[in-house]
Amino acid sequence: MPRPVTPDTLERLKLVVGPAGFSVDPDEMAPLLVEWRNRFVGKTPLLLKPANVREVADIVRVCAAAEVGIVPQGGNTGLVGGQIPRPEGCDLLLSLGRMNRVRRVDPVDNTMLVEAGCTLAAAQEAAAAVDRLLPLSLAAEGSSQVGGNLSTNAGGIHVLRYGNARDAVLGIEVVTADGEIWDGLRALRKDNTGVDLKHLFIGAEGTLGIITAAVLKLFPRPREVQTLFAAVPDAERVLALLSLARDHAGDGIYAFEMISRFALELVTRHTPQTSDPLAAPSPWYVLADVTVPRAAAEALLAAAFEREIITDAVLAGSPVQARALWKLRESASEAQKHEGGSIKHDISVPVSRIPAFLAEALAAAERLIPGIRPVPFGHVGDGNLHFNFTQPLGMDKDAYLAKWEALNRVVHDIVVAHGGSISAEHGIGVLKREEARRYKSQVELELMARIKRALDPKGIMNPGKGVV
Ligand SMILES: Cc1cc2nc3c(=O)[nH]c(=O)nc-3n(C[C@H](O)[C@H](O)[C@H](O)COP(=O)(O)OP(=O)(O)OC[C@H]3O[C@@H](n4cnc5c(N)ncnc54)[C@H](O)[C@@H]3O)c2cc1C
Repeated sequence: MPRPVTPDTLERLKLVVGPAGFSVDPDEMAPLLVEWRNRFVGKTPLLLKPANVREVADIVRVCAAAEVGIVPQGGNTGLVGGQIPRPEGCDLLLSLGRMNRVRRVDPVDNTMLVEAGCTLAAAQEAAAAVDRLLPLSLAAEGSSQVGGNLSTNAGGIHVLRYGNARDAVLGIEVVTADGEIWDGLRALRKDNTGVDLKHLFIGAEGTLGIITAAVLKLFPRPREVQTLFAAVPDAERVLALLSLARDHAGDGIYAFEMISRFALELVTRHTPQTSDPLAAPSPWYVLADVTVPRAAAEALLAAAFEREIITDAVLAGSPVQARALWKLRESASEAQKHEGGSIKHDISVPVSRIPAFLAEALAAAERLIPGIRPVPFGHVGDGNLHFNFTQPLGMDKDAYLAKWEALNRVVHDIVVAHGGSISAEHGIGVLKREEARRYKSQVELELMARIKRALDPKGIMNPGKGVV
């Protein structure tokens, strides 16, 4: 059982950060203590808002001496509860939001140095200001922060071309669990000088240390992007369209998303200023960005029609039209909130297994909860589906949500049988802790536990979160 934080420790921490660096105001703390989907609500005696890495290190030293848990928080857009202090009220919440500067953007090195509390959108804008691209992009980018993105190894819509957050990083600065500062802010493309420590902290969800800054890779901005929205009869043909797009566009596939009919219906029903862009309904849709001239995108669609891969399509004629098409995809999560309870899975399988996985998992879900309404959509280009289910019409919401674990188990077993992952993007946090332990081998769990013991022997970094 975690112990309460002593008044003496709280006073020391307040002295470290000064009056601007902490809060006990319930109104300020309340929105930071609840997760986006309202699934996790936490409690803390003190919100810490350090202004720089020295203050973070001093905070951690005080907490290490007192053996008090620290929960780092970025934009609080995480969906597995990792950024929320435990409900017992024994952890301190450390918000990185004041450490939000873009310190350097270098269009020659093609790098940028940003502090952890910089929002992803602000980092993208700073890159664009020197005509460069920071390719990491997700619907939560206006609020999520670079430190949170790296700590969750965020994915998003451009992974199939540029990789996850992990692939975007050249160097990081970390405050370790004993309050040391590791300055690993190297801007090198080549550095083979031993174990690459940054990768321990990326994706660790704050359980091994606090990321305070990062050097990120930049890329040339695509000169032209064509956005297409196509109706596809089945999942096999979604993959056929992906292959055809690769033949036509090479590595010019910038995003490739799959949306089910029901997901589109929910969006157009519940999201203002959205409408179905095509005349007739279709079981599946693909929304893709390809960085090729318009004529090449038209040729791709013509070939897809000819081979009966698609039944209808629209190619955006302007940036406004392209944004309207993307709004359909980006509203998919929010739209489900209006239809009662949702049970969600953030899974990945090898791309080639998507049709078989869908067939098996949709049938199994219907067997478990007759009338369940599947809302699958996601980043099909990298095998990652948000495999969500809305409650059956007329069912009691609480009775439906009580089946969360049972449905997870059915779906996750099928995911694992197809060689997939039960958390493709969102991490483990609290939500998937037990589930991840079920599927990982003893060897993998023991290796993770040894790393945790070595880097955080007192167990103060985000206690109770992550796999071990
Ligand atoms: C509408 C919506 C769409 C989303 N789409 C995607 C998507 O496409 N792809 C995707 O991958 N995710 C997506 N997410 C999930 C979420 O946005 C990402 O996980 C994001 O990277 C979290 O960043 P954050 O700054 O909000 O982190 P938080 O939610 O604040 O924290 C997440 C985790 O990281 C830890 N952490 C935060 N900052 C630090 C730090 N500086 N050092 C150490 N640990 C830290 C926290 O303790 C916690 O465990 C989406 C979320 C929403 C609400």
